[in-house]
Amino acid sequence: MKGLVHKMQPDVLSVHNLRKTFGVGSAAFHALKGVSLNIAERETLAIVGASGSGKSTLLHMLGGLDTPDSGEVIYRGENFGKLKQTERNRIRNKDFGFVFQSFFLEANSTVQENVEMPLMIAKVKNRRKRVLEALDRLGLADRIDDRVAGLSGGQKQRVAIARAMINKPAVIFADEPTGSLDSKNGALVSDLLFELNEQDDAALVIVTHSHELASRCSREIAISDGILNQPAQLAAQKAAQ
Ligand code: ADP
Ligand code: MG
Repeated sequence: MKGLVHKMQPDVLSVHNLRKTFGVGSAAFHALKGVSLNIAERETLAIVGASGSGKSTLLHMLGGLDTPDSGEVIYRGENFGKLKQTERNRIRNKDFGFVFQSFFLEANSTVQENVEMPLMIAKVKNRRKRVLEALDRLGLADRIDDRVAGLSGGQKQRVAIARAMINKPAVIFADEPTGSLDSKNGALVSDLLFELNEQDDAALVIVTHSHELASRCSREIAISDGILNQPAQLAAQKAAQ
């Protein structure tokens, strides 16, 4: 039923015929070969596929962290390719949150300094209060002034989730968020992501090798060799060869 409800929502994000090649000439590698995808507001989407199939590349394009060679990325009606860099950066900071397998935190900075970064960029005041509220939800309020380097992996990923959620984003992108964690911390991090979906209305786009995590999403799509395993795209790819 969850899936049906989301189908009735408008798209938060869509991509059309995305292509991305790394390197040139004989070293060229076609990481995305014409990917089209629509993601509904509040949807939870799992992207699965073998290592090297293009999952992270697709996630980076969806989140505006990298630009495609061709094709379009549309966020709530705005075409990323037609926006100024500053406007794209603003959307990425304000409306998107990111969680990565290797955390991407400033290890020598405190929890507060890491979590408040998106608020600083957005020039929000009263940041400590907001950071404390977020950390409280994630069970980390007592670590606010500790350096990230001293935290466990599970705690680090919760700090990353706090940073991802602090601006109340429309979409949270997670690239193998449980990949570095033991099963107990992995389950905790998964629960927190779905809680953000339910309580804060964030769409989730999760790249994962975990069947358990993928099965909790309302939709699962597979990518192989830069092509989504959807009949229309496989047919289009075949016709182009
Ligand atoms: P996945 O996340 O599914 O493991 P990626 O999207 O990271 O795969 O990578 C897909 C392919 O593109 C891989 O073969 C990878 O080596 C290549 N690739 C990704 N990023 C770059 C880059 N910046 N430069 C060169 N090759 C890259
Ligand atoms: Mg990857």
